Amino acid sequence: MCGIVGYSGKSDAVSPVLEGLSRLEYRGYDSAGISMNIDGKLCIFKKEGKLDNLKNFLKEKSELSSTIGIGHTRWATHGKVNDTNAHPHGNEDFSIVHNGIIENANVLREELKQKGYQFKSETDSETFLVKLSDEFKQSKDIEQAIIDTFKSIEGNSAFVVIAKNSHKIYSIKRSAPLVCGVNEESGDVYVSSDPYALIGFTTKIYFPGDSVLCIADHRKANNHYSFLDLNRNETKDYTIQQKQMSLNTVSKGKYEHFMLKEIFEQPELVNKLFSIYSEDITSLNEMTKSRPEMVHIIACGTALHAGLVIKDFLERKNRIRVNSDFASEFRYKEPLICKKDVGLFISQSGETADTLACQELCVAQDLKTYSIVNVEGSTLYRSCDYNLLLHAGAEIGVASTKAFTQMALVGYILSNAYLDEPKDLKSEFELLSQAITLILNREEEIKKIARDIYNYKGFIFTGRREQYPIALEGALKLKEIAYVHAEGYAAGELKHGPIALFDESMVNIAIVTKDLYEKTLSNAQEVKARKGVMVILGEGEDSELSEISDFYFGIDYLGLTDLKPLVTNVVLQLLSYHIAKFKGTDIDKPRNLAKSVTVE
Ligand code: GLU
Repeated sequence: MCGIVGYSGKSDAVSPVLEGLSRLEYRGYDSAGISMNIDGKLCIFKKEGKLDNLKNFLKEKSELSSTIGIGHTRWATHGKVNDTNAHPHGNEDFSIVHNGIIENANVLREELKQKGYQFKSETDSETFLVKLSDEFKQSKDIEQAIIDTFKSIEGNSAFVVIAKNSHKIYSIKRSAPLVCGVNEESGDVYVSSDPYALIGFTTKIYFPGDSVLCIADHRKANNHYSFLDLNRNETKDYTIQQKQMSLNTVSKGKYEHFMLKEIFEQPELVNKLFSIYSEDITSLNEMTKSRPEMVHIIACGTALHAGLVIKDFLERKNRIRVNSDFASEFRYKEPLICKKDVGLFISQSGETADTLACQELCVAQDLKTYSIVNVEGSTLYRSCDYNLLLHAGAEIGVASTKAFTQMALVGYILSNAYLDEPKDLKSEFELLSQAITLILNREEEIKKIARDIYNYKGFIFTGRREQYPIALEGALKLKEIAYVHAEGYAAGELKHGPIALFDESMVNIAIVTKDLYEKTLSNAQEVKARKGVMVILGEGEDSELSEISDFYFGIDYLGLTDLKPLVTNVVLQLLSYHIAKFKGTDIDKPRNLAKSVTVE
C-alpha cells in the first residue's frame, strides 16, 4: 500500500515524481504530497484526496522547481484522511515519506513528547521524522541518525528521506517494497515502491534487502548508489534488474479502465506463459524432485482463490495433500507443519505483509518455500527457495483479474511437473486462450445481463467442486468494485443457511457445468422455487437450464476439462466490471482498497 517516488538529478523533480505517483496511485489514494528543496529550504505541498487535487494545486505554483523531490500517495492506517496527515512529513532538517506501519509509534511518541518534541499529525510516520531529528541533533550524522531511528522502530515499513542542503536520497526498509533506480546515461537517481513507476526513466533497478541503507547520489561519477548494512559496512544485499519494461504497461491504450485492459490481455498472456515455461523448466524440475507430504498454500484475497484452484489440481491429479489458508489466519494459529511439507505462497506483488510473515514462519520451521509471484525481485521472490513467475506484466487495476488466471495456470504447470509423466500442455493452453477469446467476444451479451441485474440488493455466487473457488472469486470481484453485498458459496451449502436470503430482490449467479450436473441443477431449482433471480452460467445450449434461468449464458469450454474454471471466471470478471460501470463506481480505484497490501 502507498506509493513512494523520489528523484534527484540534473532536471526538475516535479514531473518524474508526479508521473511516478500517478502510476502508483492504485496503491493508495487517500492523499498525495511532494517535498522539494527550494532555495535551500525543504518545502512540502500535500492535499487530501486523489493525486489530481495535488496536481491542480501545483499548477497554480508553476514557478516551483527543484532538482530533488520525494512524493507519496497514501493509504491511511494511522490518522484521518486529511491534509495534515498526508505525507511527506517534514521539519526544517528532513522530509520523509513512509509506507507501512510503525507498531511502537505510541511508545516512541510518548518518549519524544517527554523530551519536549511536538507532533503535527496523528500518523505513526511522524514518529520516524521526530526520532530522526532527535538522533541527528545528537550525532550530526545523517546516515547514523537514519540507522539508529530505523533500529528503534518496530513493524514492516519503507522510509525515504531527504535532508536540507543535500542532493542525496536515503531509503531503508523492512519487509516492505522499495526499489532504487538509476539512469546510467544521465546519472539521475530514483527510488520507488514499485519498478512500474520508473519505467522509461531508469536503465537499472536495484532491489535492496531488508535493513540496507541505500544512499543515492547522482553526483558520484560511477556508482550512484551505496548500500550499507546497519554497521555501515558496504553490503551486496541487493539484486539488480536491467530488463526494460515496456511503456505500454503504463497506459490504458484503447480501454476505458486498466481492469478491462487487463481482462482482455488474458488470451495472449496464457499463450506467452506456455512458451516461457516450456523453454525453461529448471526451477520446476528442482521443485518437484521429491514429493512433499503436504503443501501449505498460503495467500490472501484473489491469490487465495487461485490457490484453491491449485489445491484441486494437486489433490485430484497428484494426490498430494494440501492445506490452504488465509495468510492472516495461518500465521497466528500455530499451524501443524512437518519438515517434509512445502510452503507455497501466492502473491501478485510479492509484498503482501501477511503472506510474507507466513513464509518466514515456514522457513523458521525448516520448510522448503516456493512462490507464485508476479513481481521479480519482490520480497517474497527474494525470500523463497524457488519462484514461479506469473509473467503477467504490471497489474494496475486494484481488482485483480489477469494475475488470478496466471496464478492458477502456473499452479497447473507445477501440478503437471509433479506427475510421473508430465503431459504436453501446449494444446490445452491454446484451447484455453481461444475459449477466453470467445468469452471476450461476447462482452455485449454480458453487459446486457449486467444492465438488467445491477440494481438488485444482493448476489450469491454458487459453484461446486472446481468451480467453487470461481464462485468465491466472482463474489469478491463484485464486492470490490461494485460495492454490493455478494457471497460465494458451494452450491450444496445453500440449503444449510443462505437459501433463507432468497426472494425477488436477490440474485443467484449459478455456475452449472456438466460435472455434477444433476446435483447443481437441483440447487439452482431450489433457489428458483424461492423466487430468486437466476443467472445461470451453463455449458453450451441447455434447454433445461434456460427454462429455469432469468438470464442464461452458455459457455463453450471447447472440450477443456481441468482448465474450465478459468474460462468461467472471465465471464464473472466482465460481469462485475459492467455491473460496477452501471453503478458508476471508480473501477480502477475502488474506495477503501489499495493494491499490494503491505500492512497487516
Ligand atoms: N502508516 C502511514 C499512515 O497512515 C503510512 C500508510 C501508507 O503506507 O500509506 O500515514
